[in-house]
Amino acid sequence: MTSKKTPAPADEIQQLRDTLNDWSYRYYTLDDPSVPDAEYDRAFRRLQELEEAHPDLVTDDSPTQRVGDAPLDAFEEVRHAVPMLSLGNAFNDQELRDFDQRVRERLDVSGPVDYVAEPKLDGLAVSLVYENGRLVRGATRGDGETGEDITANVRTIDSIPLRLRGDNPPTLLEVRGEVVMPHSGFRDLNRRQEEAGHKTFANPRNAAAGSLRQLDSRITAERPLEFYAYSVARLEGEPWPDTHSAMLDRLRELNLRVNGEVRRCRGIDALLDFYNDIQERRERLDYDIDGVVYKVDRFDWQRDLGFVSRAPRWAIAHKFPAQEELTVLNDVDWQV
Ligand code: NAD
Repeated sequence: MTSKKTPAPADEIQQLRDTLNDWSYRYYTLDDPSVPDAEYDRAFRRLQELEEAHPDLVTDDSPTQRVGDAPLDAFEEVRHAVPMLSLGNAFNDQELRDFDQRVRERLDVSGPVDYVAEPKLDGLAVSLVYENGRLVRGATRGDGETGEDITANVRTIDSIPLRLRGDNPPTLLEVRGEVVMPHSGFRDLNRRQEEAGHKTFANPRNAAAGSLRQLDSRITAERPLEFYAYSVARLEGEPWPDTHSAMLDRLRELNLRVNGEVRRCRGIDALLDFYNDIQERRERLDYDIDGVVYKVDRFDWQRDLGFVSRAPRWAIAHKFPAQEELTVLNDVDWQV
């Protein structure tokens, strides 16, 4: 009788790292994923579990300790003044309840915490720098420390103001957000690509990433891209608000678009209500979301909670069940 031998933890860890590194390179650097996200997430989870069970085997270069992948050489490099990080994940309600409990224990509060719930937009993270109200730089996240200079490309996106609104803009603002491609624009783009005999895109996320990371900004200008702001990394020349929700209000005043679904929610049950509601309406939104992001609203509490390796302790991404395995894999040739 033959039985399949379970690999030793060190070997399995190494195999998972090699596989995840290959997949990340295809996804982040080439905008050409080789597997659905759910498969990546499962392998990533397995690696996390093994590393938790064997902390002596954790190394700095493990995918669990890193963000994204290296920038493409073709672009100028941008060193981020404040690193662009990833987010921890909750894959079910219990994991979200555990997150809320950890937050309350660390903060030593017994009552419900105020969070801001935001759709987790499935596009590409971008940093925009405004000096005295003028857009001076746009960059991708890259590996979190160093991104790609895509200033010329972001300037072609209508929802990114070249000048902030108002007579008294901050002297310096670094805003972060997501560039996405709406479904309607995605369908048109793929039709045009097909007619021209060019490669079609597997999904709107890859189309957005591929469109933004063009060396010729005239191509980006023809692509239907939209930007939604979701956080601020640097603000000078005016006081930093007390809460994330007040910061989002300030961004709206400055004419930076914040997603209309964003809500302030008190306590864990309100978070779950938000999640269930938007999950139910997900198919009717004109852009892809792959879950919900919850952020502790008070900035002093965010500072108290701090960060753990590649992610903040004050926020979490609550992922939707892996739908793409059923839809995308059946509908789209992943090998395009
Ligand atoms: P993440 O997607 O889990 O979370 C961080 C990102 O969320 C941010 O960088 C930002 O771009 C985005 N985001 C969207 N809405 C946001 C909001 N409201 N507030 C804050 N951030 C928001 O982390 P990640 O490190 O970018 O990517 C990991 C994910 O990418 C995996 O879970 C996997 O699904 C996918 N991935 C897939 C492959 C593949 O081969 N298919 C490879 C690598 C990664």
